[in-house]
This record gives sequence, C-alpha cells and structure tokens, in this order.
Amino acid sequence: MTTRSYWLEHAWLGTRVEPGVLVEAADGRITAVRTAVPAPPPGAEVLRGLTLPGLANAHSHAFHRALRGTVQVGSGTFWTWREVMYCVAERLTPDTYHALARAVYAEMALAGITCVGEFHYVHHAPGGTRYADPNAMGEALIAAAAEAGIRITLLDTAYLSAGFGEPPTAHQLRFSDGSAEAWAERCAALQEREHARIGAAVHSVRAVPADQLATVARWAGERRAPLHVHLSEQTAENDACRAVHGRTPTQLLADHGVLGPRTTGVHNTHLTEEDVALIGGSGTGTCVCPTTERDLADGIGPAPALQRAGSPLCLGSDSHAVIDILEEARAMELDERLRTRTRGHWSAGELLRAATADGHAALGWDEAGTIEPGALADLTTIALDSVRTAGPPPALGAETAVFAAGAADVRHTVVGGRQIVRDGAHTLVPDVPSALADAIAALHDHRPPTPARPSPRTP
Ligand code: ZN
Repeated sequence: MTTRSYWLEHAWLGTRVEPGVLVEAADGRITAVRTAVPAPPPGAEVLRGLTLPGLANAHSHAFHRALRGTVQVGSGTFWTWREVMYCVAERLTPDTYHALARAVYAEMALAGITCVGEFHYVHHAPGGTRYADPNAMGEALIAAAAEAGIRITLLDTAYLSAGFGEPPTAHQLRFSDGSAEAWAERCAALQEREHARIGAAVHSVRAVPADQLATVARWAGERRAPLHVHLSEQTAENDACRAVHGRTPTQLLADHGVLGPRTTGVHNTHLTEEDVALIGGSGTGTCVCPTTERDLADGIGPAPALQRAGSPLCLGSDSHAVIDILEEARAMELDERLRTRTRGHWSAGELLRAATADGHAALGWDEAGTIEPGALADLTTIALDSVRTAGPPPALGAETAVFAAGAADVRHTVVGGRQIVRDGAHTLVPDVPSALADAIAALHDHRPPTPARPSPRTP
C-alpha cells in the first residue's frame, strides 16, 4: 500500500477555508482529513497556499488547442471558425494526436485540472478509412492523459451526419462510423483503466439522426456511463431542427430518451422555457463553457434558470481559447452580471462546486471533487502570495481564487496522491511549452491553417 500525507497551509473544505489541514492518502484515496494541525508533521509534503479539490474540465476537444491565436485574425462566425478547425482535424494521426493531447493535458495539469472530459469524434483516418485498431485515436488520448498524469473520461462521440438528412461532408467522413450500431460496436472495445473511464456523446442533433439517438442513449444507460451532447449552442441549429422535426433540439432529445441524470448538455445556450423545464426536470446537467462561448460569439445561456429547474452546473474549456477553469468559473458569474446588471448570482463556493464536485460527477467520477475521507486524493493548490492573489486574508481564499487568480497561480497539482505539478513545474512532462509548440507545428506544417473554401452550409 502506498501512503502519503500532505499538509495544506489552507484548505477549501466545501463551505469554508480551514488553516492547517493534514490529508492522509493510501492507494490514491484520502483516508483521513485532520484540521487544526498548525505545522507540517515530519514526512508530510507541504502545500503552501489554498488547496482546493482537483479541478474538473468537463468539456474538451484537445485538438482545438492547435487553433489558439490563428483563429483570432479577422472576423467570421462559428461556421467559418469550424472550417478552419476541420483543416486541423484533417491532419491528425494517432501519433500526432497523441503528442498534441499529451502536451494539452500537461497544460491542463499546470492549470490545476485533475480530470478531463474529452468529447472525442475524430475516430478514423481521412476519408473514413478504419485504422488497424479502430479505436487508435481514442487510445492515443487515453495514453496521453496517463503520460500527463491526469484522469480522463473519454466521451466517445457519435457523429453520423452533416445536418438533418445530409450525409457527412468530406471533412466529416473521419468522424462517422456510418450508423449508431457501428459506433456502439466500436466503443464496446474500449477498456476502462485506473485513470480512464469511458462515456458516450451525441455530437449534436445535427450530427446524429433522430432515429439513431436512442441507440446511443441505450449504450450509455446499460453501462451507467455519462452521456454528453452539444445542445443549442447556435440558433441556426434550433431553426433547422424546428424546420425538420417541428420541435426544439431539447424536445427531440427528450423524445428519444437522451435526457436524464447521467446526461450533460454542453452549452444549453438558446433555450425556451419549456426546454429549461425539460432539462432541469430530468436532472440533466449543464456544462457551461464561457470562454469558448464568448470567443465564438455564441451568446449567454440561462444557467441560473437551468440550475433552479434542477440542472447541476459544470464547466469546460471546450475549444481551449484559454485553459483556465478559474476563469470559466468567474466568467459564468460575470457574464450574468453584465446581462442582468445585478451582482451575486453564485458565491465563490458555489462556483468552486461547479469546478470540482459537480464537474467530476458529470464525468462519472462521483468519488472525486471533495477533500474528505474516501474521496480520490486529487488536490489543486492556488498560491495566495502571487502578484494577483497577495493581500486578501486567507479566510477569503475562495473569493480570491475564483475572482482574481488564474492558471498561472496554480502551484501544486496532486492526482491520486501523486504530485504531478510541484512549484508550478510539471513532474512528468519536463518542458510543456516546447511540447505544445512542437506538436502544433507538426500539425500546421509551419503554415497557419486556412479554410479550403467557406462552407455554404448552415448547420
Ligand atoms: Zn464542444
């Protein structure tokens, strides 16, 4: 049995900041939490600053990291951005994707993220040719997370059509298994590991025909696995869905058994009151991705109403315009302040809950996201003496962390009792910036990606 102990200078214990906390762990789980321990006992690792439960990034597309910066030149829409994204996707192989994802997940570890939900749909070779191992791309992501030291839920994504009644475009052929049955058969071969769990995803109501939604939902239900779906990120998706099916995307998902307490809608931005009631009433979660939603000019979703209706909230960095869950947390609150011109929609503690326990639950790791006996020993320590965080009393550490700190203030990250970030340096990936630069240069062929031609297609 591997035992470790950590002395936390200050710890966020769900409702309050506690000074001097000793956390003992064995075989990756917390076995004891002792408060009022004024000094580190011999043999304990010292974590100075405010230690939070590990942060969960509930929505990621690792390869979008290769677009950072390059998509900020000029104007355009979500749909023109998507064309550039497809050009990068076209160049991915199991090897180049592994190198990129390892670097991206290492960046996440440096940002205090201990678990990622990877919404994965680049399954096959360009043109749709199967790899010798049809799960080579998913396996590359699982291996990348292990090498970066973080947990992953591989949300293997069904992506079958370009739009309602339209076959996949040339770019999308590598996303498609042809049918939900074939998708399910391929996914059944994916094995869970100590650091990796398998979930399912419906890319969107655009990308999975209505008569195949139930197959994906059933696959996830039989395994009690998380099921995620991009939901109403863009009004064009709603318009097309209404035109074809005479109902909103939320209603369509509800009709086909996709909603429920193990399901998370990603974005949930453009909703009717009835949609909000369907999502909340079914216990379906909402993953808000504010830095991506503002980057892609999506709009601001009704997160407070969704939460009141019964939808737990979590956070994701999605397109990785930035990777900073603290920024996602404060952005959710600050967007709401701008919209309503009132303050205080969520407390710092409520925002941290979305970033930790509720994020992990959305990814099927119910035993992570709290600092208490029995929980996974996943910890993230925020410096309280940086140029951004110095000054406020430690008792206001949660407010300081959420409203002033960022990824650069993450000092230590512990996953399963193992320290993978120490004093701001990754212990497994020695030079994360170079790993990112090399992996992205290999994809861009040293030229920024340009769209082959603008898509005439709406969703
Ligand atoms: Zn997404």
